[in-house]
Amino acid sequence: MNISGKTTITGIFGYPIGHTLSPAMQNAAFEATGLDYCYVPFLVHPDGLENAVKAIRSMNIRGINITVPHKEKVLQFLDEISEEATFIGAVNTIVNMDGKLIGFNTDGRGFMKSLDESGISVKDKDILIIGAGGAARAAGYYLCMEARSLTLYGRTQSKVEKLAGDLTKVRNIVSTVNDISDIEHFHIIINATPLGLKSDDPLPFDVNRLSPGQTVCDLIYKETRLLKEASIKRCNVINGLGMLLWQGALAFELWTGKMPPIEVMRSVLEKSTHY
Ligand code: NAP
Repeated sequence: MNISGKTTITGIFGYPIGHTLSPAMQNAAFEATGLDYCYVPFLVHPDGLENAVKAIRSMNIRGINITVPHKEKVLQFLDEISEEATFIGAVNTIVNMDGKLIGFNTDGRGFMKSLDESGISVKDKDILIIGAGGAARAAGYYLCMEARSLTLYGRTQSKVEKLAGDLTKVRNIVSTVNDISDIEHFHIIINATPLGLKSDDPLPFDVNRLSPGQTVCDLIYKETRLLKEASIKRCNVINGLGMLLWQGALAFELWTGKMPPIEVMRSVLEKSTHY
């Protein structure tokens, strides 16, 4: 990579940041498209977030991804928030439009693109989301526009009810359940909890009730035990790698106005996660 005085800067704010795969993915994409851009990881302590956002303007940074723990707190420091990011209450991508900072959330659309490229349609499907955090909210926002029904389940009932209430305003097809023993009734089941990140985590539900043809998604981007077990049951399985890829691809498009080189980005992620 050739960095000169004319190179356009993009990057990511997070705390911690050492684990991020985005710099490798985005820099490979810039290189493959011949764009004079680079992507830099910034370790931004929560106490320094406001100043870091101001620096996007003062240092003429074109765009920034936002990751844990700043996705919600960053909204108050931006000039404009897109419709989906307003609903989700979280921003993962900032675009600097001549000093005006606009916040977007590409996670939900990224998830939808990952379903789409796997040939999974959500139209008229009965869908279950396990978890009621930011990722569930981002995916739920788009899912409830097309699904036949959307059911939410999580360990903190107040958060599940709050998310269901908000999603119902998008489309009135959302309900909550207190247990998920009837997993066989759903066409698509989505794990939007971190359960499965550690090898000794329990499974989020009883996989013995799965049947062939159901779709099981895990937003975690490594191959989890849930997905291995669901594969054995001959379910369609989708991991979180596609969501990670597409949220980054959509950010690339917002910053550059160009189509991202998807296969280059996918290949970098696959190598980094040893798929
Ligand atoms: P979050 O906002 O912290 O929400 C996590 C959700 O999982 C909450 O509902 C939480 O319940 C629940 N949860 C946490 N630990 C649990 C446990 N041990 N048992 C049962 N439920 C548990 O996190 P998030 O941002 O939504 O992320 C959720 C998952 O999606 C993470 O694994 C993350 O890595 C993944 N993700 C992937 C992508 C991607 O691009 N592939 C993007 C974003 C997120 P409480 O509210 O009760 O704590």
